[in-house]
Amino acid sequence: MPQRWCKCLNMSDIINILPDSVANQIAAGEVVDRPASAVKELLENAMDAGATEIQLIVKDAGRTLIQVIDNGCGMSDTDASLCFERHATSKIKQAADLFDIHTMGFRGEALASIAAIAQVELRTRLHDAELGTEIVIEGSTIQSQHPVQCPSGTSIAVKNLFFNVPARRNFLKKDAVELSHIEETLRRIALIHSDIAFTFYHNGRMLYDLRAGNMAQRIAQVFSPAYKERLYAIDESCDVVTIKGYIGKAEYARKTRGEQYLFVNGRFIKHPSLSTAIERAYADMLPERTYPSYFVGLTVDPSRIDINIHPTKTEVKFIDEQTIFAMLRATAKKALGQFVLASEFEFNPSTEIDFSPAPKGYIPAEPTISYNHTYNPFGSPSAQRREAASRWVDFFDQKATAASTAPSAGAAATPDPSPTLPLQQAEPEGMAQACMQVQERYIVSSVSSGIVLIDQQRAHERIIYDRLMARGAAAESPQQLLFPVNCSFSPADAEIVSDLMPDIKARGFDIAPLGQNTFVVTATPTALADCDLQQLLDRIVADYKNSMLQKFADRNQCLALSLARQMAVRPGKRLEQAEMQQMVADLFSSPMPDRAPDGRKTFVIIDPDSILQ
Ligand code: ADP
Ligand code: MG
Repeated sequence: MPQRWCKCLNMSDIINILPDSVANQIAAGEVVDRPASAVKELLENAMDAGATEIQLIVKDAGRTLIQVIDNGCGMSDTDASLCFERHATSKIKQAADLFDIHTMGFRGEALASIAAIAQVELRTRLHDAELGTEIVIEGSTIQSQHPVQCPSGTSIAVKNLFFNVPARRNFLKKDAVELSHIEETLRRIALIHSDIAFTFYHNGRMLYDLRAGNMAQRIAQVFSPAYKERLYAIDESCDVVTIKGYIGKAEYARKTRGEQYLFVNGRFIKHPSLSTAIERAYADMLPERTYPSYFVGLTVDPSRIDINIHPTKTEVKFIDEQTIFAMLRATAKKALGQFVLASEFEFNPSTEIDFSPAPKGYIPAEPTISYNHTYNPFGSPSAQRREAASRWVDFFDQKATAASTAPSAGAAATPDPSPTLPLQQAEPEGMAQACMQVQERYIVSSVSSGIVLIDQQRAHERIIYDRLMARGAAAESPQQLLFPVNCSFSPADAEIVSDLMPDIKARGFDIAPLGQNTFVVTATPTALADCDLQQLLDRIVADYKNSMLQKFADRNQCLALSLARQMAVRPGKRLEQAEMQQMVADLFSSPMPDRAPDGRKTFVIIDPDSILQ
């Protein structure tokens, strides 16, 4: 028996029952891992209380204050003190209720958890009560409770989150990151509950003012009014599921997966298989490496889903998954291919227009099919590969007759990117080393230690990054745009763009705020003159948020990295001999040629003697 067991057996009783405050603190780690999860719980409680207006007030990205004020049903004074107990819930009474959940919460854990790790002030009043109750609770201990005059409904202020859990507090990311988590939490709730009005203040500034309306209006308020041109409505139902919402037109697909919202019974979910159902509907319509936006709400019988999931997780299991998959895909396809009444999509927030069926006798316009004009099926990876392979064979044939070291003709039938190319012999002394492009992705050339295989995109990223870092502001000459371009962002992203504006300008952009989270771009660096500016700036913001999470804390580096990524040649771009030679020369004059700016390898060197052993 191991030593430590013997020790234990010899000791007297050692098991303690943990005090509630400690147990709650441990449980809190599961429910509240960052300010955004407290925001989620409080907003859900307000909705469960039947609120039609909810205010979210946050200070310092939730570190010092998260307050939610609702006009819901409120609580009696007894309930007000009970609600902070663990497993205190008004939403279920028995196990059977677990199969018929109509509320967002039901575990009775959230408030107990929050009160264990923060200082909480609750004020609540039932609609027909004259006085309300105020409770102050800190680290699970009630500090005070007394009657107060307050509006009906509930206000919960959570102060100094994690005040007694320093490890958790220190683990929090920069304010910009925590704030964007909070913002995303609000979006996930507000998009599907468009009948509830939400306001959101951060450090005294109003970031969202979302009036009650339909989902189309909500999307417009949350993202931008420009979305009215970007989406198709979907609305279908069968015995198993009702599907309602909007899917993005293919030409507005984005480079990041950001705007993909799937909900079931009013709850945001992540469901890779159902997301695939929507994406498959687009088939070949999407440009490569882009993702469609969608905002899709499913309604199913609560007994046909397993919602008994972890509080912070968003996974859900469906009994009828296959049917829902097929239905979702067909619905999305129909919208993309046969959408008839595009003009009915109405965002005007002042009117309550909905998508009711067309009046009797109405003759619909000819069906129009939306497609991406710039999509080129011959640019698909498989076509590129075929083309590259045939060029390889041509190349190989020429060399086979020219070079004495050429392999036998039989080898040409199975293209292999790593034979010993007779490039060194082919070039006279003193000239730049010849290069060859393979699969429109790699540059093959020769260096003294062997054959070098360079990833064209990564190498180019390194070169551009170095140039941007070295020459800073002077690196890119601005080019005036013929037509200024307006770009719109979510409120939190717009804050980031404002923050980054001096740095972006220094890189050759001319950009100015227009208000309402919109910016106008009038000039760009020459190399970026033709690109989609909304996508470019979205990418810069996304990269900035990511790099805040990771190692790049320096804005300048972060921006250079993002621009380098977007300006670099992609796989699939055919390079001329001179371009390849320039790229190889530039790469090897970098102080760090072997790594892309994000740390990925740029090349490998193959020792010719090792290939055929
Ligand atoms: P759950 O939501 O899972 O029931 P919570 O800990 O979030 O558990 O809340 C406990 C209980 O407190 C709820 O069941 C509800 O009765 C009450 N409650 C919480 N927030 C509110 C609110 N904003 N308005 C009215 N009642 C509330
Ligand atoms: Mg709750």
